[in-house]
Amino acid sequence: MKVAVVGAGVVGRLAALQLVNKGVAVTLFEKTPLSVPHNAAHVSAGMLCPISEIIHAPKEVAQMGLWGVAQWPKLLQQLQLLDPQQEPVFFQAKGSLVVAFDADRQCFAQLKSDLTTKATDYAANIDWLTENELHQLEPSLHNFKQASFLKPEAQLCNRAFLAVSTRALQQHCVIYDNQEISVSKLQQLTGEYDWVVDARGANAIGQEHHQNPVGPLRGVRGEVIRVHCPEATLSRPVRVLHPRHAIYIVPKPGGEFVIGATEVESSSEHNITVKSTLELLSTLYSVNPMFSEARVLEASVGIRAAYLDNVPNVSIRQRVIVANGLYRHGWLMGPAIANQIVDHVIRRESENIA
Ligand SMILES: Cc1cc2nc3c(=O)[nH]c(=O)nc-3n(C[C@H](O)[C@H](O)[C@H](O)COP(=O)(O)OP(=O)(O)OC[C@H]3O[C@@H](n4cnc5c(N)ncnc54)[C@H](O)[C@@H]3O)c2cc1C
Repeated sequence: MKVAVVGAGVVGRLAALQLVNKGVAVTLFEKTPLSVPHNAAHVSAGMLCPISEIIHAPKEVAQMGLWGVAQWPKLLQQLQLLDPQQEPVFFQAKGSLVVAFDADRQCFAQLKSDLTTKATDYAANIDWLTENELHQLEPSLHNFKQASFLKPEAQLCNRAFLAVSTRALQQHCVIYDNQEISVSKLQQLTGEYDWVVDARGANAIGQEHHQNPVGPLRGVRGEVIRVHCPEATLSRPVRVLHPRHAIYIVPKPGGEFVIGATEVESSSEHNITVKSTLELLSTLYSVNPMFSEARVLEASVGIRAAYLDNVPNVSIRQRVIVANGLYRHGWLMGPAIANQIVDHVIRRESENIA
């Protein structure tokens, strides 16, 4: 069986790797050079936060997300088997913390109320930490008096995954990168392949393959800043609540931290604004002045593709499987979405053979 995958972001890569593992011949088409990604996957923070998302997303996002968190170590192991020479991709499941400054304690009270009502099934996975407990767990958060500890949450190094999966894909798939596939070309590919997977992410906004029952895609702009601060210690992602927004600080390997992310209903990729820069960096500095000497490495902008209900969707028409709308949950939901794609391809094939 031959499958074409269009788009090498989170969805395209995970689907391609899973199909390769099932013995399917995969051809991957990507707009940019595979080793120099320019997509939401590259910009993103790589957090896997199913419990935090319960407040804003339907329960199925949390359920599929928890499943995704459990899948990642297995997926990374499979990746290692495809290319044993590679360095392992950083993954850790040490939970995440949500805090608020004293002046914003009403935000924390709201969080407590939201999680108590919306996350009843997951109450055992949430610890409400006192000042002492918080400072023992994460000493650099001494400016905060309480925290919510979301124990099943995890993180991975998204850029390491992109680098390592590039090597594995180059060895096991036919790659056509630096090639933008138009919607008509995408449809033409169905003449050459048994299945075509459309995983174009935000690039599909306004250029969709077929009208999706859950409505059109929209873009949600996100800005992040990456700093290097080897002297700072933070063992897990931290979200700082604020009446206007929640800003997270995510530790990465090598003393790097990602601070993000803004959320604006727009597909504009213009550079980060002064306002967002000030908000992100002032939060970083207020969390702990140890960040004052952090070196700013980059400020980047990514577009999250989302459907109206903010839930990812997989839909099929004329041998094209469209998988999109992963919004701010691409890493979290990617394994479940890739699984749906692979299941569909394999199931339909066995039905045809039968
Ligand atoms: C600032 C920010 C922070 C985020 N943080 C997190 C997080 O912490 N955790 C989390 O789970 N999610 C996070 N996300 C969301 C996550 O990055 C996305 O949900 C995910 O990347 C979507 O995956 P995708 O494969 O659909 O799209 P993408 O990752 O954007 O990939 C789409 C790919 O398709 C290629 N392409 C597009 N059009 C064509 C074409 N015509 N021909 C060929 N190739 C094409 C693109 O070049 C790109 O490589 C964040 C997003 C942003 C913007």
